[in-house]
Amino acid sequence: MKPAPFAFRRPATLDEALAALAGEPGAKVLAGGQSLVPLLSMRLAAPSMLVDINALPDLDHVTASSEGDEAGVRIGALARHAHVLASAEAAQVQPLLALALSHVAHPTIRNRGTTVGSIVHADAAAEMPMVLRLLEGSVDVASVRGRRTVPAAELFAGPLESTLAHDEIALEAFFPSLPDGGGVAFQEIARRHGDYALVGVAAVVQTEGGEVTGARLGYVSVSDVPVVVDVTDALDDPAAAALAELEPTDDIHATAAYRAHLVKVLTPRVLADAIHHARERSA
Ligand code: FAD
Repeated sequence: MKPAPFAFRRPATLDEALAALAGEPGAKVLAGGQSLVPLLSMRLAAPSMLVDINALPDLDHVTASSEGDEAGVRIGALARHAHVLASAEAAQVQPLLALALSHVAHPTIRNRGTTVGSIVHADAAAEMPMVLRLLEGSVDVASVRGRRTVPAAELFAGPLESTLAHDEIALEAFFPSLPDGGGVAFQEIARRHGDYALVGVAAVVQTEGGEVTGARLGYVSVSDVPVVVDVTDALDDPAAAALAELEPTDDIHATAAYRAHLVKVLTPRVLADAIHHARERSA
């Protein structure tokens, strides 16, 4: 199918882009287009205007720092998934990024799709919104009203719905670093590699002297929004603790019962991998 007609702007400055969005309530941001363009073609979205942000300067950075309160990875709105995945510094400072990104779609889509766009798109089947939520990261956004930082815990409102206003542009996502004694892991089950996960699980653990002092799990494709469960006090049966908080849903890809089964199988595996990773880093 062909998209419904829309106006198109490709501003060269952030101020122009913000003004264009503010002046047109039906406008939408276009970044990599890997989610939005299919929605336009299927007429599941019909914005009156696209504001293409690809000509904006200084938004394609991936910077990693291991020092101080700001330790973490900063990803600009025009950094493609492939760029983030290729960054050795980012993988060093927060290894969960590369672990999860290697499951995001196929190389051609990762070459164009942006990590920040994926977060704002807020698909509960997408890996990076869950990773941001699990790591307690944040997104910096701008509008004609000014700038603000939105913590990941306040970002995901519902299926394909973020809490950003229609005229806000996400400029950068911040993923905190993995501290000493920390470990991470990620696994997912998809029909084919590169497909959206039927279920995906990530773990972040903290250890001291080899003992686990904190353990949190993040789930992809289980609910309408990315879900995080703290299993620090349930290390003997983390899957039961997770299922007590999750409500797996049915869709055309999998039944709720199959999703619950995958949660049971993947949860202890991923947690064990993360604990192993933490102990390996500390050795
Ligand atoms: P766009 O498509 O340009 O935009 C998506 C939405 O976000 C739009 O509503 C847009 O207005 C908004 N938006 C984008 N950037 C900004 C911004 N900076 N500020 C404000 N709003 C913004 N993703 C996965 O996570 N896992 C997968 O397994 C996966 N498989 C895929 C398979 C296929 C065949 C395809 C086509 C895509 C797949 N994707 C998958 C989606 C891909 O990761 C997209 O790149 C990503 O979801 C959106 O990023 P984008 O830059 O393409 O955003």
